[in-house]
Amino acid sequence: MKLQPMGELARTHTCGELRAPDAGSTVVLAGWVHRRRNLGGLLFVDLRDRYGMTQIVFRPEGDAELLDVAGGLGSEYVIAVRGEVGARPEGTVNAELKTGEVEVIVREMKVLNDCLTPPFVLEEPIKASDDLRLEYRYLDLRRPHMQNLLMTRHRAAKAARDYLCDQGLIEIETPMLAKKTPEGARDFIVPSRVHPGKVYALPQSPQLYKQILMVSGFDRYFQIARCLRDEGLRADRQPEHTQIDIEMSFVTQDDVFALTEGLIASIWQEVLGRRIETPFPRLTYADAMARFGSDKPDTRFGMELTDLTDLLGDTEFRVFSSAIKSGGAVKCLVASGCGDWSRSQIDKKEELAKGWGAKGLAYVKVTGGAFEGGISKFLTETQTAAIIERAKAVDGDLLLFGADATAKVHNVLGRLRLAFRDEFNLAPDDLLNLLWVTDFPMFAFNEEADAWEAEHHMFTMPRDEDIQYLDTDPGRVLGQLYDLVLNGVELASGSIRIHRRDIQEQVMRVVGMTPEEAEERFGFLLRAFDYGAPPHGGIAPGLDRIVMLLTGEDSIRDVIAFPKTYKGLSLMDGSPSVPEREVMDELHITFTKEP
Ligand code: ASP
Repeated sequence: MKLQPMGELARTHTCGELRAPDAGSTVVLAGWVHRRRNLGGLLFVDLRDRYGMTQIVFRPEGDAELLDVAGGLGSEYVIAVRGEVGARPEGTVNAELKTGEVEVIVREMKVLNDCLTPPFVLEEPIKASDDLRLEYRYLDLRRPHMQNLLMTRHRAAKAARDYLCDQGLIEIETPMLAKKTPEGARDFIVPSRVHPGKVYALPQSPQLYKQILMVSGFDRYFQIARCLRDEGLRADRQPEHTQIDIEMSFVTQDDVFALTEGLIASIWQEVLGRRIETPFPRLTYADAMARFGSDKPDTRFGMELTDLTDLLGDTEFRVFSSAIKSGGAVKCLVASGCGDWSRSQIDKKEELAKGWGAKGLAYVKVTGGAFEGGISKFLTETQTAAIIERAKAVDGDLLLFGADATAKVHNVLGRLRLAFRDEFNLAPDDLLNLLWVTDFPMFAFNEEADAWEAEHHMFTMPRDEDIQYLDTDPGRVLGQLYDLVLNGVELASGSIRIHRRDIQEQVMRVVGMTPEEAEERFGFLLRAFDYGAPPHGGIAPGLDRIVMLLTGEDSIRDVIAFPKTYKGLSLMDGSPSVPEREVMDELHITFTKEP
């Protein structure tokens, strides 16, 4: 087929634009051949671009050469056509198409490019495998569904930018080639050619730079920033993600909450026209864990954990008594109406619990106001009555128990609660439950490393009343640290920061850093604090997750134009790839492992 330049066929309209009143005008459209139908010599083509689809028609009585070329058009050919807009004959109007009242009778066409047979059909819903879609991402992104996702992403980012600018924040870019910035993952490293043996790190977030911008007096900053983390392989993680990174000086936690609530509300309003009530409810970390077994609770449904520890102090059931004696907890979940479950149904849940570290999953069924089956024989009448009352259990319910170290009980029952949510659709899809989780512990003890680690990052300010315990009892120090949660998904994390060298050095000591290490890694930050650092705090909502929730997608992969597989591969361009010998020589590196 002869390919032609567009020449004077300059596009006058998009494929989503023409309506009935346009009938009679001459237009030029350009786009992709979506579908072709031949009806008794009449040739119909659905011409598609990102704005929509328009039916174009080649009439048999028209130009023979034109008809001949049109007959050779294949799927996804790129063409430009000039023709007249006509009202579609009665009975052929397509109400599902915005342009469905009209068609364009083609008088002239240029074939701008042809197309190999696509490796998969561009249809909705897509049937091709994920790998094939990623390999031919440019074709996958041609689908209206994918185009809508990326356009929604654009609108969300614009809404965020507009809102933050209106609030007086200014956008400042920070380096991609950076000093290591700890956010709990490994850094991607870039070897320096000019400085043999030295490396830059790609930023895990702009954390330290945005704090230093506060020292510079840019008291209200934001940046839609790419964050690069070499994380373990997990289904819904990407090595690159995007944050709406925010930092402000002279603020309290309440100020950060109010700004973020306005941001989220304005994104939902602008993109979906949906009103979100503010302020959002708040829950402390301790309450979230105790009630939902999670620091990002899905509060769209009940099924909260019931604490039974104080009721069972004198139980004869060894599993419970030993957990309680060693300082742990006994809690239960009420699976409403599951009292008729078979042994094997319960066993399946026990398997799940074991997979999450439980030793087993004790249960009882409620009938006639008493317990039956499972561990019922180990519980006295008084204990039974007290449990039923506290758990608000009724006949026909199934009670599932967790007894262990408290954190383990929370983890197992919290995950089991979500398994019930997914199995029985307990969370209404149309609810948007936003909440703040506050007062996180500053440190978590890592048994393996036998050391304290920062729960969020080590630049978080402890609560004023807890600073006194930093050296003596780090486990009891709570931070001015908060997460924003939407329907069980962590949407943002942030904190009020340390702005004083002495407190920062103290926190570094807790996480086992020697003064030399602290100087080597963060000397620049500590020095900045010496030069009049104002109190400041911030937050970083995740743009990918926001767009995922706005669009109802299950994975952040679908809302990123060119994502990696969960193994970190880019199937379209084949990265990571093996560098040429000369490149390695120039960078002064050798690999100890062949690919
Ligand atoms: N830098 C933090 C993160 O990436 C967010 C923050 O504390 O502002 O999680």
